[in-house]
Amino acid sequence: MESCVFCKIVRRELPSTILYENEHVMAFEDIAKMAPTHVLIIPKTHLQSVVELDSADGTLLTALQEAVVAVAKITGVYETGFRVITNVGEEAGQTVFHLHYHILGGRKLEVLLG
Ligand code: 5GP
Ligand code: ZN
Repeated sequence: MESCVFCKIVRRELPSTILYENEHVMAFEDIAKMAPTHVLIIPKTHLQSVVELDSADGTLLTALQEAVVAVAKITGVYETGFRVITNVGEEAGQTVFHLHYHILGGRKLEVLLG
């Protein structure tokens, strides 16, 4: 998608601090970190949110899952605990409409049930 900020990061048109990358996915530091570890994991293809993933996306789903574990290990939160969040739509607070998982950790996170 031409104007999508995360597609621009994938195409290296915008700078980012990349922690992990392969053919299918990319993980980079959030620009406005909410915790000592705050990393975004995205598919390299433009999908609006997690609801656009389906059974035909098996390879991508596996890549996203492997990226969660890899990022947790790279950042050290694998040992201490972390949170995986994906917002869907405006009421949930989604501001970038390219699927992304937030990986948050490195401090005690408050209980979050809405
Ligand atoms: P959302 O609110 O859609 O779940 O999360 C979007 C996230 O993307 C926010 O945490 C925001 O700080 C981050 N973000 C927005 N623009 C950029 C950017 O250009 N670079 C990086 N690294 N993160 C961004
Ligand atoms: Zn995009």
